[in-house]
Amino acid sequence: MADKVGNNSNNKFDVIVVGAGPAGTTAGYILAKAGLDVVLLERGAYPGAKNVLGGIFYTTILNRLIPNFWEEAPVERHIKGIQIFLLSETNAVSIGVESEEHNKPPYNNSFTVSRAKFDQWYAKKAEEAGAFLITNTVVDDLLWENNKVVGVKARGGEGDIYADVVIAADGVNSLLAQKAGLRKDFRPRQVSLGMKEVIELPREVIEERFHLSGNEGVELKYMAGDATKGIWGGGNIYTNLESLSVVVWVALESLMERKLKVTELMEQFKDHPFVRNYIKGGKTVEYQAHLAPDGGYDFTPKYYTHGLLIAGDAARFLNASIHYEGTNFAMASGEAAANTVLAARTKGDYSEKSLSYYQKLLNKSFVMKDLKRYRKMNRFAEANPEFFDAYFNAITQMAVDYFAINELPKRQQELRMLKRFRSALRHFHADGSGKIHRHNRLTRAFFRTFPLVRFLWQCLKGAISSI
Ligand SMILES: Cc1cc2nc3c(=O)[nH]c(=O)nc-3n(C[C@H](O)[C@H](O)[C@H](O)COP(=O)(O)OP(=O)(O)OC[C@H]3O[C@@H](n4cnc5c(N)ncnc54)[C@H](O)[C@@H]3O)c2cc1C
Repeated sequence: MADKVGNNSNNKFDVIVVGAGPAGTTAGYILAKAGLDVVLLERGAYPGAKNVLGGIFYTTILNRLIPNFWEEAPVERHIKGIQIFLLSETNAVSIGVESEEHNKPPYNNSFTVSRAKFDQWYAKKAEEAGAFLITNTVVDDLLWENNKVVGVKARGGEGDIYADVVIAADGVNSLLAQKAGLRKDFRPRQVSLGMKEVIELPREVIEERFHLSGNEGVELKYMAGDATKGIWGGGNIYTNLESLSVVVWVALESLMERKLKVTELMEQFKDHPFVRNYIKGGKTVEYQAHLAPDGGYDFTPKYYTHGLLIAGDAARFLNASIHYEGTNFAMASGEAAANTVLAARTKGDYSEKSLSYYQKLLNKSFVMKDLKRYRKMNRFAEANPEFFDAYFNAITQMAVDYFAINELPKRQQELRMLKRFRSALRHFHADGSGKIHRHNRLTRAFFRTFPLVRFLWQCLKGAISSI
């Protein structure tokens, strides 16, 4: 492979793409298909070797680029339903969403996949379109001329490689965005830490346990609460063909503040009474841990400069809300980066001004619209941590009280339920937690006397922040 770089006069390509994840491969595929001379540089022994995905690969963009891709791609199961759980230590409230519409093409654009297999398949598609893939190649730096990026410095045999434009799709820890001065070192509140275990179980057991047939799959989504010991984050179980992916992800800053380890949280999660029966009898065959961008729009760096575009996790394009979506953001930004390069090529101008077209394309797409919309939600989560801890306990207890069977008339039981709920909230505010100290004395006294009013006010703010 190095031969071709050698044969390519002066190691010069039209475009260099760094990183063969969903963002980079999408850009490489589109540009190669358009006839450009593209090199795709990947540090792993093969694409996907170092990539982590909790469970669902979202395929809106992919299905447009390669229609009916699932007929040939190594997908595991299509997701026909989601079950959402609020957990306390002893109680759970759950709600399920399922649709027969999701059981037929395009399967709600949601598939479980193994990245090790899927990324290889997708990169092969880019190669077939004409992209030149080089694996086992770490890019260490950018090459500059007159304040413009003109190539990359690759470790080992490849050496310096030149191009009209570079697309950095090198993932959350993007060295190239940093080298270009577009992002600073991470602060813990800008990332979350995810841990994943793949637990093997026979296919029939999975299908019986989760009520599935054929290639149907489901996601169980556990929102914070006892799943993460009250830290902003969540736990998930996803069904693969012959295994389950079990994930715990948490805001890194809160994890550090609480002096917890993600491995401990994973063990507690797997042992939770409303989790353990789903994974019973399984054998853990794989562990992975990875950072993911968190904090949304407010921490998005500038994602283009002279001769350089940044796509996917490298530009922090991930919606870390209840819709945990990164793959479709990566592909949509890879596509926008490719279209920006095509537009710049017709003008023969790769200056920052010309590449600012990237921003226009992203602003028009769901990428920026969703990032902007959920920016408030991230701030809300930070400012109201009681939603992921004390309130979860109170809400799940209220649901359990509502359905308690005893000799009380239902009306009396409902009043008792509300009284218990109110006293749980008051108790919580009275001990000084819940950031109630932010308010002046009069408001504090009011909230302590009427804790339900504060709760409802916070719910309203929470709802507004995610509308
Ligand atoms: C635990 C966890 C669970 C997740 N669950 C989901 C989910 O269920 N659904 C979802 O949509 N998203 C999920 N995500 C997010 C999703 O995985 C990412 O948003 C997505 O992979 C981003 O794609 P990307 O191409 O930008 O980056 P990546 O997939 O990270 O790819 C970057 C590539 O660049 C390569 N690379 C890095 N540096 C260099 C270098 N210097 N030189 C050469 N190559 C380099 C890497 O090896 C890698 O192949 C999850 C993330 C985590 C951590």
